[in-house]
Amino acid sequence: MIYMDNAATTRPLPSVLETFQQVSETYYYNTASIHQAGRKADELLTLSRRQILDIADLNSYDCIFTSGATESNNIAIQSVLGRKKQFGSTILVSELEHPSVINVIDALKDDFEVKFIRTTWNGSVDLSHLTELLDDDVIFVTVMALNNIVGSRQPVEDIVEILKDYPKVHFHVDATQAVGKTTVDYHSVDSLSISAHKFYGVKGAGALIVKDRKYIAPVYFGGGHEYNIRSGTVNLPAVAAMARAMRISAGEGRDKADLIAGYNKRIREELAGLSSIVIQPGDVPHILNISYAGAKGEVVVNALAAHDIMVSTTSACASKLAELNETLTAMNNSRAVIEGSIRISLSNYTSEDEVYELIKALREVYEELGDVLI
Ligand code: PMP
Repeated sequence: MIYMDNAATTRPLPSVLETFQQVSETYYYNTASIHQAGRKADELLTLSRRQILDIADLNSYDCIFTSGATESNNIAIQSVLGRKKQFGSTILVSELEHPSVINVIDALKDDFEVKFIRTTWNGSVDLSHLTELLDDDVIFVTVMALNNIVGSRQPVEDIVEILKDYPKVHFHVDATQAVGKTTVDYHSVDSLSISAHKFYGVKGAGALIVKDRKYIAPVYFGGGHEYNIRSGTVNLPAVAAMARAMRISAGEGRDKADLIAGYNKRIREELAGLSSIVIQPGDVPHILNISYAGAKGEVVVNALAAHDIMVSTTSACASKLAELNETLTAMNNSRAVIEGSIRISLSNYTSEDEVYELIKALREVYEELGDVLI
């Protein structure tokens, strides 16, 4: 099987699974227990926290461990908005956000004025529109670091600069797809979400990294783990494994960048001449969004599955709010292009042979679809 759905989730690295198993066997204690074993587990937790902040180059920040980015986004949005309500009511959201951001904002829309920041043709937030939307009533801005549908990098550093004139604003960044694929300077961002299973860690571990934890309140209550912000026994094996996965993927992300960029270029070149094929722009080589205009994305995904190649569709509803994928809609694509789109996501470990097989299959599926294409 050729797995090319790495933006959905990645295969954990053997060394990461080794850490997970070792910690499960030798540090299975509750990090909140006050006995000696519990204290040892807590030391490992602190070490993992420091390592993650160090790799993110955010040593002065706080790191709150969660079950993943959905939970991190929920805690950041719900708790900050709850606290900032008295200072204003406008929230600015990019059109490109993941459902774990959009649907949280949607659930709160009766209490706030939600405004969407427009998107440029290449899938980036429109900074001039952001500037236009900013006023004294804005309390929260949320923009992801790297888009999960087309792989467009968002101008986080420029947004930080723009927001310097608006000290009341909390700037949240969903950095889930960025780790290991691109480097972003997160200094001055107020909070960011990460998730281990997107960078070769195990599922069920993530973090909310915040400039100052005193602005973050719990969204549910319990025994007081994780600075009393995220109660519940900490998944220490997955957290320690996440620290290891993050360290490896930060290095490999740099080392493999040229190789993956070469694969991306080759796929683009091989399909470039084919009519009805639309390839979206993207900034990282790992994510490639291709449309077979006139066909349904699901049909293309299934046809590739028959070649034992796993990719995903982006034409299905990305969230309950939209009939068509929000990112591709925001980038002004036609209905046919959106409905016929698939997302191919490579990993740092994708091989040249796999890319060759993919290109062959993409061409064969193109031939098979024939008259369906427009
Ligand atoms: N944000 C983005 C941009 C994502 O791609 C995903 C995963 N699809 C999430 C958030 C949610 O991550 P998790 O699975 O860790 O909850």
